[in-house]
Amino acid sequence: MKNIIFIAAPGAGKGTQSQMLQEKYGFDHVSTGDLIREEIANETEIGLKVKDLIRQGLLVNDDIIFDMLKNKLVQFKESKGIIIDGFPRTKEQALRFDELFGQSDNKIDYVIYIDIDQVEAMKRVLGRMTCSACGSIYNEYYDSIHEMGKCNACGGELKRRSDDNEESFNKRFHVYLDETYPLIDYYKKQNKLYTIQATNDKEEVFHAIEGIINGE
Ligand code: AMP
Repeated sequence: MKNIIFIAAPGAGKGTQSQMLQEKYGFDHVSTGDLIREEIANETEIGLKVKDLIRQGLLVNDDIIFDMLKNKLVQFKESKGIIIDGFPRTKEQALRFDELFGQSDNKIDYVIYIDIDQVEAMKRVLGRMTCSACGSIYNEYYDSIHEMGKCNACGGELKRRSDDNEESFNKRFHVYLDETYPLIDYYKKQNKLYTIQATNDKEEVFHAIEGIINGE
């Protein structure tokens, strides 16, 4: 099993890299942010409850996150590896996850810290567009999009996230620095931490991640 989590600021590329890992290695993927956006899109009780929090860039309650995550993890059978994207966001989440899954097939094996500076992260977030049909992620500043507003891969409509604006980005970045960044120490002590630099070449970043998980 090669279970992977990322410690990365918003915009560092964890979603893109997760997609690439999923495609090449057939890993299972769960994104807590995607699970929440699904609840919001379906206007469920949870979705209605957390909608404003997300827009403001604040974290969602741990019990909600754990319920969603546990439901998803039980669906993965005989996994080659699981990418848990957007989780854990806090020390409390990391401790609770280790308590629940530290001795199981879901335990975390690789923690990849993607190092990016705030200015670059903001540029990526403000330029980000996601295909509403296939989930492909683009950046209007870096990627050539063949037809305006349409996905190169499937022609689906490209959409921006409701929290990808400057105000929400700044809040999310500060929540990341205060709550998530300290996890570096937590995982360093467990000898699971690997650091890579966020360059603008996603293939280069992917290659670095492959080197880590393949032990090169
Ligand atoms: P993401 O797609 O990972 O950028 O997450 C989008 C938003 O969902 C975050 O800004 C949080 O509001 C919420 N969220 C995602 N994952 C978590 C988590 N593990 N704990 C708390 N809130 C989360």
